[in-house]
Amino acid sequence: MDIERLLSEMTLEEKAGLCSGLDFWHLKGVERLGIPSVMVTDGPHGLRKQVGETDMMGINESIRAVCFPTASALAASFDRELLKTVGETIGDECRAEQVSVILGPGMNGKRHPNCGRNFEYFTEDPWLSSELGKAFIRGVQSRNVGTSVKHFACNNQEHERMNSNSVVDERSLREIYLASFEGAIREAKPATVMCSYNAVNGKFAAENEQLLTGILRDEWGYEGVVITDWGAIKERVSCLKAGLDIEMPGGNPAPDAAIIAAVQNGELEEKVLDESVRRILRLIDFCTADDGKEYRFDYERDHAIAGKAAEECAVLLKNEQAALPLGKSEKVLFVGEFAARPRYQGSGSSHINSWKTTSVLEAAEAAGHSVPFVQGYTENPSEKDDALLQEAVAAAEGMDAVVIFAGLPSSMESEGVDRKHMRMPENQNRLIEALSEVSAHVIVVLHNGSPVEMPWADRVSAILEMYLGGENVGTAEYRLLYGEANPSGKLAESFPLKLRHNPAYLNYPGYNHMVEYREGVFVGYRYYDTKDMEVCFPFGHGLSYTSFAYSDLKLDKTCMSDEEELTVSVSVTNTGSRSGKEVVQLYVRDVESSVPRPLQELKGAEKVSLSPGESKKVCFTLGKRSFAYYNTILHDWHAEPGMYEIRIGASSRDIRLCAQVEVTSTVEIPFHYSEYSSLGEVLRCRKGKERLGAMVEPLMQALSGGTNATSDAMGEGAAEMMQIMLDSMPLSTLVTFGAMTKEQIEQVLSEINP
Ligand code: BGC
Repeated sequence: MDIERLLSEMTLEEKAGLCSGLDFWHLKGVERLGIPSVMVTDGPHGLRKQVGETDMMGINESIRAVCFPTASALAASFDRELLKTVGETIGDECRAEQVSVILGPGMNGKRHPNCGRNFEYFTEDPWLSSELGKAFIRGVQSRNVGTSVKHFACNNQEHERMNSNSVVDERSLREIYLASFEGAIREAKPATVMCSYNAVNGKFAAENEQLLTGILRDEWGYEGVVITDWGAIKERVSCLKAGLDIEMPGGNPAPDAAIIAAVQNGELEEKVLDESVRRILRLIDFCTADDGKEYRFDYERDHAIAGKAAEECAVLLKNEQAALPLGKSEKVLFVGEFAARPRYQGSGSSHINSWKTTSVLEAAEAAGHSVPFVQGYTENPSEKDDALLQEAVAAAEGMDAVVIFAGLPSSMESEGVDRKHMRMPENQNRLIEALSEVSAHVIVVLHNGSPVEMPWADRVSAILEMYLGGENVGTAEYRLLYGEANPSGKLAESFPLKLRHNPAYLNYPGYNHMVEYREGVFVGYRYYDTKDMEVCFPFGHGLSYTSFAYSDLKLDKTCMSDEEELTVSVSVTNTGSRSGKEVVQLYVRDVESSVPRPLQELKGAEKVSLSPGESKKVCFTLGKRSFAYYNTILHDWHAEPGMYEIRIGASSRDIRLCAQVEVTSTVEIPFHYSEYSSLGEVLRCRKGKERLGAMVEPLMQALSGGTNATSDAMGEGAAEMMQIMLDSMPLSTLVTFGAMTKEQIEQVLSEINP
């Protein structure tokens, strides 16, 4: 496509027209110039492609498609290759169905367990979110199908998502909520970015120039198209100026007319419109490129890929006395509605009209294995089901093990609605409690898109977290339960013991259409680990049917500047008797920091596959960003000089090996000293020490030197206490106490200030 030529031939009306959709799911083309209209479709865990007449709300039935595990499940795989494969597969399906852009992945960070859309987001950790998003985007886009990274930004709750203002301080915005997207946008270059409905620090995302132009384009170098979430537009012309290219859904002529009028009356420079049109043409060019391949929707193949993915995502949270895997000769009872009709996806715009569903009962049957089953509960928690509970208790008698397929009903996890609490339905909790009274081996298999409280966790032998595992979750469950597959997922989010332990608990969901992120950067494990709080299951946790040993942690240097890279290597050995995969995690701890920082932050993770007895060396490369926090004076990332600990672990709470590296900084933070700066601050700055040290240090020594007088006045530890007091004393007090004149202080300040 000769974009410049096309642009020069387009009329103002045609250019304005490209900036809004044709209908609910299509972008406009320009027939006269051979620019095609392309289709965008929901997902992102499969295709939600509507055919025929599109309705006003986009809720009509969509074609049958394969439903893959949702994002929170995929994240637990910690497996970039898997995310890429799922992306490629969905990309193939889009090509087969003439879909040009799939609306995902969802990349908002998880702030609170009750966000109704948590199942559509990856993780509470920004580095991991970016890594996984990158892999998925690359997979889809390798097929010349665009992605739409969403919902940019700070759409961390569904409560009032369309009219709430997320108030986030600069550091938390950068370190947590933007970083969750940043790496993926910078490196994988998604074809489109979808802005969120909500406002960020007082400006709706659609018209937030700092977000859409300042950060996204100018800082991150994003050259793709920014598209609204459906209906997120504010005033059309100001949104365009802010950096928003396409308004969706389309079909309304008013916004195009507003753009045309604004150009004609000089309110909008035509070159701003041209820039958007250039980007839109590049998108259409990318999505319509013919790679000469034939694509067809291979349902069987993709169903199998979905099942394999579910297997990789499952997290074995608990496994006492090797309750799992089960033996085929054991007498096992399957209990629970979800064994027959698994819950495997969330509600809302990502809902797939699944091609087929395989439950664990069907998977067992396909394997020629007949497992007795009772329903145990109904999905609707308000229905009375005591008789079902009694039936389950009776059926459990004489069984070697009871497997309960439980979780959240679909009414509790949906776009547009937050959960009211973090509990599972009471009827299911009661069933688990009752069965653990009568059976020594209760195994719970969970189907939920985000954490639940597990009051029964201590009373059951094993817990297998499947998340929302896609349409073929049953095959994965059967293979995992019977040891044909070995669990290898790890939690990409913390499971607190109680909802009220969550750091955002006191400031969620906000009031007066405003939610303040007062917990700052202390989100998820950054909070629980720093406070050393007991959790139900920690970030990064996940067991295996085999065991792994860690050894030989090596850093290629012990001291580095913030412009260098550090290579870290560690060996992992499978010390058990089954093949398995381990997710080796690397956390960085700033040993001593001048700003509040989390105890540790994830900066690397690699999934390795090991046969029994096999060892592999895993390598990580860490650059400045791995050590840095976002400095609000520099408005940039800053790796403070000092010692950092490299912590290698099997979870955030299972750190196996540590080593230290010293980082030196090439950046000096500009600081303005005043008469209210403390003595300590001034003496810690090189120039200040040179200028003031000779004068002030003897005084400090005299006062803190442990004279009898100070000891009398302050008791034991007087010298140390005096030192601390002096350190924080403002310069002005030197005048008050006659140690220096006001003029001398002013002279010093003029010399040390930049
Ligand atoms: C959702 C988006 C979705 C769009 C189109 C919106 O309500 O927030 O995630 O892609 O609808 O269905």
